[in-house]
Amino acid sequence: MKRYWILAALATAALTAFGQGAPDFSKVEIKTTKHSNNFYTLDGQGGRIGILTGPDGVFMVDSQFAPLSEKINNAIKAVSGGAPIKFMINTHVHGDHTGGDENFGKMGVTIFSRPQLRNRLAHPNPGPNGQPGRPMPAAGLPLVTYTGSLTFNMNGEEVRVIGIPRAHTDGDTIIYFVTNDVIMTGDFFRSVGYPNIDRANGGSLRGMSDGLARVVALAGPNTKVVPGHGPITDRAAVMAHRDVLLGVQRKVSDLVKQGKSETDTVAAKPAGEFNSRVPEGGPTEDRFVGQVFQELKAN
Ligand SMILES: [Zn+2]
Repeated sequence: MKRYWILAALATAALTAFGQGAPDFSKVEIKTTKHSNNFYTLDGQGGRIGILTGPDGVFMVDSQFAPLSEKINNAIKAVSGGAPIKFMINTHVHGDHTGGDENFGKMGVTIFSRPQLRNRLAHPNPGPNGQPGRPMPAAGLPLVTYTGSLTFNMNGEEVRVIGIPRAHTDGDTIIYFVTNDVIMTGDFFRSVGYPNIDRANGGSLRGMSDGLARVVALAGPNTKVVPGHGPITDRAAVMAHRDVLLGVQRKVSDLVKQGKSETDTVAAKPAGEFNSRVPEGGPTEDRFVGQVFQELKAN
């Protein structure tokens, strides 16, 4: 019981860091969406999970928050016929995507990530008030790291795991399920709100723009693009999102060249003309403009 409370408190701290209210995890339900006979997505609280099922065992993408692990495990069992969860990939370090890693690691799931992500789990940044971050216990640290890409051949599917350097964070990965024609992007592409470049965790504007271009190049017109947050969408939406990112970059760059401060740049609302193209519900214009300003100013 004590352990549960510690994990719940940490998850709450992580959520507060994302600027959201603290949820009551006991009330969260895991909603399963079936996309094909062997591919499902799970939505609860936090980042979206992907599940590939079949006789070779379950392959899973991300783990949401620790207090939800049991519910998530039950939701997986309901569609996997009890096959064991063999592998998990983390798309990036944030707690709403990796919070359950320790619990799944203890169940015997082998976790994979890019080395930058593993390093940030082991040595997290301080919290918003400067309090030390809680390092991920050994059982939750990825057992295997990869620097480029990996392919899993499981359940009749070719799963391409492709590193995306320095985008939303410095440990991002996309997962392309070739036969299902599904790409999971983690959070460097989200279908609601403005982009979120987590510079403190190694994210960058350039990497995000390159990553979006990579998704556009990989995807076909019918590919399902599954973001970490927001409705499941398609290649055209990723192209539109990249256009907004590059458009805001140009506007902010002009203001930086004029010698404007960050406060003045944000107040000038340089993203204003793009607002109608950005679905509501995610990161704000002001935060994104601030992130773009900081990156352009630093270069
Ligand atoms: Zn994130």
